[in-house]
Amino acid sequence: MATGKNFNPFVMAQAQFDKVAEYLDLDEATRQLLREPLREFHFSIPVRMDDGTMKVFRGFRVQHNDALGPNKGGIRFHPQETIDTVKALSMWMTWKCAVVNIPLGGGKGGVICDPHNLSDHEQEQICRGWVRQMAKNVGPINDVPAPDVMTSAQHMLWMLDEFETIHGAKYPGFITGKPVGMGGSLGRTEATGYGLIFTVREAMKELGIDPAQTLVSVQGFGNVAQYAIRLITQLGGKVICVSCWDQEDQCSYAFRRIDGINIDELLKITDRFGGIDKTKAAELDYEILPGDAWIEQDVDILLPCAMENQINSETATKIKDRVKIIGEGANGPTTPDADRIIEEKGIFVIPDFLANAGGVTCSYFEQVQCNMNYFWEKDEVLSRLDTKMTSAFIAVSELAKKHKIYMRDAAYVIAINRVAQACKDRGWV
Ligand code: GLU
Repeated sequence: MATGKNFNPFVMAQAQFDKVAEYLDLDEATRQLLREPLREFHFSIPVRMDDGTMKVFRGFRVQHNDALGPNKGGIRFHPQETIDTVKALSMWMTWKCAVVNIPLGGGKGGVICDPHNLSDHEQEQICRGWVRQMAKNVGPINDVPAPDVMTSAQHMLWMLDEFETIHGAKYPGFITGKPVGMGGSLGRTEATGYGLIFTVREAMKELGIDPAQTLVSVQGFGNVAQYAIRLITQLGGKVICVSCWDQEDQCSYAFRRIDGINIDELLKITDRFGGIDKTKAAELDYEILPGDAWIEQDVDILLPCAMENQINSETATKIKDRVKIIGEGANGPTTPDADRIIEEKGIFVIPDFLANAGGVTCSYFEQVQCNMNYFWEKDEVLSRLDTKMTSAFIAVSELAKKHKIYMRDAAYVIAINRVAQACKDRGWV
């Protein structure tokens, strides 16, 4: 499978699906239905920029499958966004909702843009323009967006406001990841990172690893990584390395401190996109290494929490023998070629659509709370999240043990079976 510039996440998502469809001996029609999205939207979003000029941004929404419930999934703002990335991500959302057993389907959206170079007002216009293009095809009962890479609660509120203006009524269930107090759920910001560590904690129990003896290396320092680092540190683990994107140099760097990083100290020198100030980090005694160094650390746990295609046939060979667990906080960080290397090394993988399902699970709770118009305490949200993530993890790891299959394949078996059955029961195939 191509890496580097030729890497195509949709080809990868289809390859993962095809492998398990074969294992499950799925009929041809079900395979055809599930290896492509049900619907795709491509559109233009004209925006008047702050300097008075007009700029046209390209936007997408892909609805992969809604047999189990309304399509659900985030909207990414990224300069390298492509329709194939959004298609892959929408497919992974279908499996994600299915594996944690919530009544939602899979969708994803994107806009080709770089928020680093856009004012708040320009970003607001992109959000409102996105909703104007999609207003007839999204909504609480057919497709529910959420935050993703470089979008936040504020973006969700702008989108909600535009949707409610168009439809002339209040629809808090249209979108999730809203600000707390504006229909958002407590715990939503923490949910993906915490959910990841709930599954890592269960994996450690299963492998008999003492969290207090573990060293951890993390890729990414956005929302997912920040909360994952916080919780794994609370469990006793020591994070010694974290890598992140440097906007100025247009490359990533790894920040290492052998006696452990300090999350609060790092957050003080981090921008809103998760970029750490390298000059200030050096003053705080962090070693600044090339971005790829995060994967070569002599640690017990690797947490890729950035983008797709980070653990591939080139980088996977650099993983040290000490590594026992890979917890995928990102979507699609590991390619099928790398999976083969990891499986040979005997590393326990918690696959992305299980490991990072905490975000969408909490989004589901947010919808439930919006529908009831009654909001839970944070402890209640997080304990329900823990229950959901833990039981999904146990179901996958038991299946993996029983059938002696790789964790990613086991998660796919559960998810694909649920979705395929729903399609059959509805008479679609
Ligand atoms: N964007 C997140 C994900 O990839 C959350 C999706 C949601 O809450 O709908 O899982």
